[in-house]
Amino acid sequence: MRLALLADVHSNLEALSACLAHARRQGVDRCAFLGDLVGYNADPRACLDRVRDEAGRGAIVVRGNHDEACVGGLIESMNPSAREAIYWTREQLDAESRDWLAGLPLLAQAGEASFAHASPERPEQWIYVTGAESAARGLDAAGTRLVFAGHVHRAVLYYSSSAGVLRGFHPVPGVTLPLLAGRRWFYVVGSVGQPRDGSIAANYAIYDADAATLTHYRVPYDCLKAARKLRAADLPERLAVRLETGY
Ligand code: ZN
Repeated sequence: MRLALLADVHSNLEALSACLAHARRQGVDRCAFLGDLVGYNADPRACLDRVRDEAGRGAIVVRGNHDEACVGGLIESMNPSAREAIYWTREQLDAESRDWLAGLPLLAQAGEASFAHASPERPEQWIYVTGAESAARGLDAAGTRLVFAGHVHRAVLYYSSSAGVLRGFHPVPGVTLPLLAGRRWFYVVGSVGQPRDGSIAANYAIYDADAATLTHYRVPYDCLKAARKLRAADLPERLAVRLETGY
């Protein structure tokens, strides 16, 4: 079973389409969407259609904090441009899409992996995994050998050393890594639809459950077109610049 891991799509249809096309060429069997399907960018309906298509083919889908905010969740802690995009997105979604988003679970499990948007430690609190300590607490809470999550928008892979201490590193795109048995792994997948590490290319990864390997990918896509759509929708300029710069 080869699984495409896609986090933080954030209504970016160009990035999502490019990643799904890339994943198909790699022969993936199934997708896992790690939350924040909507928010920030200009194509919430089209992105939800694609994700729901994948869900019909067995994709795992979990809810993110932006998904929750778009169906009436709290937005006080969000920055002004994120909040503005949430208000805009709420107007774009029909009742059926809202119900579907609201019904998504916060956590999913398959085989030896858990899937979440933020840390599995109190998932409803949307805790960012930004270091080895929070990754270790997330793994303890999940109780599985592997955890795949999003929320941070930068790809980092944490693993337990032979001494049991967790360390993190940035995976090199295109390099397949063995998820060695006897170790625990917490993978923060970078963002499909709003990368924030200085590269404009979309992030996703492929997890091969049979071989126990992970490959991180960066996929170029038409970020200028996605930025144009943001401006045409009168969404905050800051969000368009983020796509054009990767920051
Ligand atoms: Zn996000």
